[in-house]
Amino acid sequence: MPFVIAAPAPSTVPVVGGGDFPVRRIYCVGRNYAEHAQEMGFTGREPPFFFLKPSDAIVAVPYGSTGAIHYPPLTANFHHEVELVVAIGLGGRDIAAADAQRHIWGYAVGLDMTRRDLQNEMKKQGRPWCIGKAFDESAPIGPLHPAASVGDLGRGAVTLSVNGVLRQKGDLSELIWNVAETIETLSRAWTLAPGDLIFTGTPAGVGAVVAGDVMSATIAGLGTLSVAVR
Ligand code: MN
Repeated sequence: MPFVIAAPAPSTVPVVGGGDFPVRRIYCVGRNYAEHAQEMGFTGREPPFFFLKPSDAIVAVPYGSTGAIHYPPLTANFHHEVELVVAIGLGGRDIAAADAQRHIWGYAVGLDMTRRDLQNEMKKQGRPWCIGKAFDESAPIGPLHPAASVGDLGRGAVTLSVNGVLRQKGDLSELIWNVAETIETLSRAWTLAPGDLIFTGTPAGVGAVVAGDVMSATIAGLGTLSVAVR
């Protein structure tokens, strides 16, 4: 049977070296660096927790170019969160951490853009975070690097600058739950499938941007993601 309306095009992320990665789901890990957990008012190593963004929240920025997003509606506190993004190439459930690596297709630099005022209000009211996290253009992402072409990502600097001024600085070694542990926990709750992306959490230093700002996010070995706010 034909579709009764035009089928939406899949979101895709370009791959360094050619090709496109089709996106199924976007999982995000909350408070996964100790200093960021502290700046959000939490301490300790609580179990990882997750939220999702719709796949069409992706704004894919090809290698070497500067992307652009609109300043979103309803907020006066629009925050940047630089994050390592893991792309799943082999699905599964109940994946053991020791077995996680072979499920990873590649890695990218991503931004978990957040309407912080709305998120905070939803937290206060005990309501879902969707309006603060899962809005249009809330997931800018740089090109994917195939896992085979990337070295060990157990450590490496994670930074974000706004208009050339450093805001966020951390290291992948400071992840509370590393990538393998995150995949283990996530795959107990959902069956992972090829095309899933995992935003793995942000280091300390989150803050607001306004129209006209340019964000430059870097992760050692994965290049720079530059995004302007319109
Ligand atoms: Mn985040």
